Amino acid sequence: MLDPGSRPTPPMRNDHQPHAVVIGSGFGGLAAAVRLGAKGYRVTVLEKLDAPGGRAYVFKQDGFTFDAGPTIVTAPYLFEELWKLCGKKLSDDVTLKPISPFYRIRFNDGTCFDYSDDKADVLRQIAQLCPDDVPAYDRFMKASEAIFKVGFEQLGDMPFNNFTDMVKIAPDMIKLESYRSVYGLVSKYFRDPKLRVVFSFHPLLVGGNPFNATSVYCLITFLEKHWGVHFAMGGTGKLAEGLVKLILGQGNIVRYNQDVREIMVENGAATGVRLASGEVLAADIVVSNADSAWTYRYLLPAAVRSRWTDRKIEKARYSMSLFLWYFGTKKQYPDVKHHTIMLGPRYKELVTDIFKRKICADDFSLYLHRPTATDPSLAPEGCDTFYVLSPVPHMDSGINWPAKAESYRKLIAKELGATILPDLENQVVSSRMLTPQDFQDRLSSFRGAAFGLEPILTQSAWFRPHNKSEDIDRLYLVGAGTHPGAGLPGVLSSARVLDALIPDAHTLVKS
Ligand SMILES: Cc1cc2nc3c(=O)[nH]c(=O)nc-3n(C[C@H](O)[C@H](O)[C@H](O)COP(=O)(O)OP(=O)(O)OC[C@H]3O[C@@H](n4cnc5c(N)ncnc54)[C@H](O)[C@@H]3O)c2cc1C
Repeated sequence: MLDPGSRPTPPMRNDHQPHAVVIGSGFGGLAAAVRLGAKGYRVTVLEKLDAPGGRAYVFKQDGFTFDAGPTIVTAPYLFEELWKLCGKKLSDDVTLKPISPFYRIRFNDGTCFDYSDDKADVLRQIAQLCPDDVPAYDRFMKASEAIFKVGFEQLGDMPFNNFTDMVKIAPDMIKLESYRSVYGLVSKYFRDPKLRVVFSFHPLLVGGNPFNATSVYCLITFLEKHWGVHFAMGGTGKLAEGLVKLILGQGNIVRYNQDVREIMVENGAATGVRLASGEVLAADIVVSNADSAWTYRYLLPAAVRSRWTDRKIEKARYSMSLFLWYFGTKKQYPDVKHHTIMLGPRYKELVTDIFKRKICADDFSLYLHRPTATDPSLAPEGCDTFYVLSPVPHMDSGINWPAKAESYRKLIAKELGATILPDLENQVVSSRMLTPQDFQDRLSSFRGAAFGLEPILTQSAWFRPHNKSEDIDRLYLVGAGTHPGAGLPGVLSSARVLDALIPDAHTLVKS
């Protein structure tokens, strides 16, 4: 949370500047606010919660600092750009530290693969698992780079407003085999079942099923290798705090505890927002960083929507949700890496349970975060801060999470205690949970999905809710549920798309 004492005195805002209202202070919303500020808009960010970050909210309790969501920072240049727009350097406010290995992947039989950008070490581990797969590494990384160059560099910040944009990129996408799933493409290169997992789990980081997500998501492998995997010292919350500081430094405003209930529309154009308190804020443009499905379904009356109708929103496919347990231990576990992926006995069957059958299986796979491996200041001395997440189905599962949460937590604690965190239950001194119910109620995510619309080919680019609303003029969308999609690089790119869509403030006639 931003220390109010550290706020720079904002210069006076000029009432004659066009006014942009941004709904939500997730990374997409904060980045959009910085970009609009740089374009000369008077910006007001309205956040429902009492602090910024959205999924990257920070819980502080019992001396522990828990980042609620994102922990893996890739493509740091996307953050650098925002600081540069304000004449500053990211390092003025946030220290990013490279992490190695990127992840320890622990298979159910107890064997581990330390995945990093150290090619020699990665090849050594591949050779141990399957010598015949060693040449596949270079070939796969080359394919990943080619996909990155098209999928991220060319398409990531391109507005897909017209279907012709989609038609133009089709030949490239076919050449890159984006009709295949991530697992399908990886399996073309690697034969060993464990290596197929190592190189295909990435879509799960952005809410996708490796067996359904388009192979465009294979670009993440290159992105990580090229720019590294980083941790923001002090926690990811420092990045959100830093962006708020930039917004305030531009003379703009971030208001917390402001629940937007309606986007006002007149003659087909957004004219402002109405808050739960009844207050109305007029705006020349409105940018929604709230979940895209939620924005259309609940913030706009059905009568003004012809593309994103209630039926279309209901029929769309949503990403998985997550069960999260944040805990602090009174001892340290120095052998546990910063990022550990603990695989259960099943892979394809487990994700099918989660995405298709909507079953919360007991033989889960887990991601364990131990930020104190890099930054001990996040826990009291001699202690460790953790969170563990389990991908689970979204709210269509019908699970009563308030009733199930504690028993599910115990199951996870038992598994961790029996494997990499011995004696865990006796060491826990701080604990809290987050369930799909919280994603729905607290973060206003449709169906409690943790990553918005599922990233499948038929819900990507032009098929995803556009960054410039198809239904309402002067309404723009940023964040995980719009183009290009979830993950920090995705949502920062969604704000970058606005640069091409929103005119500089001085060209707008003030309403
Ligand atoms: C547990 C978890 C771990 C993750 N780990 C990583 C990772 O390591 N690396 C990575 O790159 N990505 C990660 N992701 C994905 C990434 O965090 C998200 O895709 C991204 O942060 C979403 O940003 P967003 O801009 O869509 O906004 P969100 O974070 O979804 O924020 C939207 C904001 O809008 C506010 N809001 C909603 N409705 C209203 C309203 N009506 N009025 C006012 N405010 C409103 C919400 O309160 C919220 O603050 C993770 C996600 C989760 C959940």
